[in-house]
Amino acid sequence: MGSYTLDDEFDSTTRRSFLENAGTALLGVAVAPSLLMRRAEYSLVIRDGKVFDGMGAAGRTLDVAIEGGRIAAIGARLSGRGREEIDARGFAVAPGFVDIHSHGDSSLAEDPRGESVIRQGITTIIAGADGGSRATGAADKSFASLFTSLDQLHPGPNVASMVGLGSVRGAVVGDTDRKATADELRRMTEMVERALADGACGASSGLEYTPGAFAPLSELIALCKPLAARKLPYATHMRNEDDRLLNAIDESLAVARGARCALQISHLKTQGPRNWTKLDDAFRRIEKARSGGLDVAFDRYPYVAYSTGLTNLFPVWSRDGGTSAFFARLADAAVSPRIKRETLAKVELIGGWDNAQISSVRAAEDRDAEGKRLGAYALARGADAYELAIALLRRSNGDVGMLGHAMSEENLDRILAHPLGMVCSDGGGFAVDGPTRRGSPHPRGAGSFPRVLARYVRERKVLTLPEAIRKMTSLPASRVGLGHRGRLVTGAAADVVVFDSERVTDKATFDAPFQYPMGIEVVIVNGVVALRDGQRNATGSGRGLRAGSSH
Ligand SMILES: [Zn+2]
Repeated sequence: MGSYTLDDEFDSTTRRSFLENAGTALLGVAVAPSLLMRRAEYSLVIRDGKVFDGMGAAGRTLDVAIEGGRIAAIGARLSGRGREEIDARGFAVAPGFVDIHSHGDSSLAEDPRGESVIRQGITTIIAGADGGSRATGAADKSFASLFTSLDQLHPGPNVASMVGLGSVRGAVVGDTDRKATADELRRMTEMVERALADGACGASSGLEYTPGAFAPLSELIALCKPLAARKLPYATHMRNEDDRLLNAIDESLAVARGARCALQISHLKTQGPRNWTKLDDAFRRIEKARSGGLDVAFDRYPYVAYSTGLTNLFPVWSRDGGTSAFFARLADAAVSPRIKRETLAKVELIGGWDNAQISSVRAAEDRDAEGKRLGAYALARGADAYELAIALLRRSNGDVGMLGHAMSEENLDRILAHPLGMVCSDGGGFAVDGPTRRGSPHPRGAGSFPRVLARYVRERKVLTLPEAIRKMTSLPASRVGLGHRGRLVTGAAADVVVFDSERVTDKATFDAPFQYPMGIEVVIVNGVVALRDGQRNATGSGRGLRAGSSH
């Protein structure tokens, strides 16, 4: 096991003869001098927990020793002492969770603690999702400087990031719906290449968002080609997740095929009751591509409501050119009836206005809309829901968040249980105190990983515990070039979570999202205890993670 035990000191023959000659009682005395010479004092030892390696093996009662930010030893009853020791008897010890689709970085500048992230046991978030990233690979917005600023921020969790192809398009082509010129395409490709060279861990698209949605298949293929050599994935929020879900999967597969890269379908779902039957077809397409040699996988958060902008109920074409162009079209009698028709069709698809819940507004005067279902909120005010939605958008200059309650529980079970499925949160980072407590965010930002362990492992037995842990650790980490994380093995980065598998429970709800989970006892990031007995360390030990680097 790579620890300073007898197994390492002697080859089996020597050891056997030694045991025969010396006898067990003498063993300690006989061996002690040489062992003492080599025995390390660890910074931290976690004793007697049920250790899960993150690769799907059942838990075994072992000690885990940490030194210098690395797992220094794993073994039964390690003899070396830790400067700090944690008694984990009765608890599960797992690699820190890796959230492969997270928006938790967006609030780190305001509150670097990343409370709702750390308290779920997440030690690494993969940011830059849905086509949007903080860096683009441009000279003045490089990933090198993004990672440096993350290091300097000392965030709670580690942060890796994909390069967002929507952000890249926005920087080069702008907000309008047009084909990129050959020169623009070359510049965008160079930006992606530079981003990956600097450590971006994949490329993401958000094809229901503008301007990312304006990228045709050929552009996506061209921009994803640099991923292939680095074995990093193209992660996509697909062009459609409801009526045209299967076409959207076909397009995603075509990108991966054309670019010869891995494909990660983000938050796979069948949206709207009339599309719930499509999951078998979706799985068939994915599995067929996989057996044809394509490296395709997917992720999902454990809720049947999604979170997005309220503008997403409105057709993509109506948002061409940005917010002011959108409002101009809404006021234009020549096109506004068509916008209304298509929007109402989308609302019908998710099951009506009451399945659209307002999660955030920018306008202070509309603060009381936060947390409300749009149908009920309109009724209470004697307003038409469609007109009210537009009024809310106008007053917040387009910046209104919504939750869509439109997915199937049964399909969620099957997506989480599928061997190619990983767990993600898709959530934002917030805290019950401080500046990031605002609006009424999707509870996934505080509950996703504990919710999988509680509801889908313990209660409904959709997944076994080792398999759930694998889907939260080694599977996502290796997917994005962070193979030295997500596994509890000697030499791996010391990101660890200790939790009570019998008690772990998510507490955040759609009505009361500002609640941390229970049962997550200890969280260790880069060898430093970030959470212990519900208490946070003042200083964050997370940093920017460059894909392919061992640091
Ligand atoms: Zn998304």
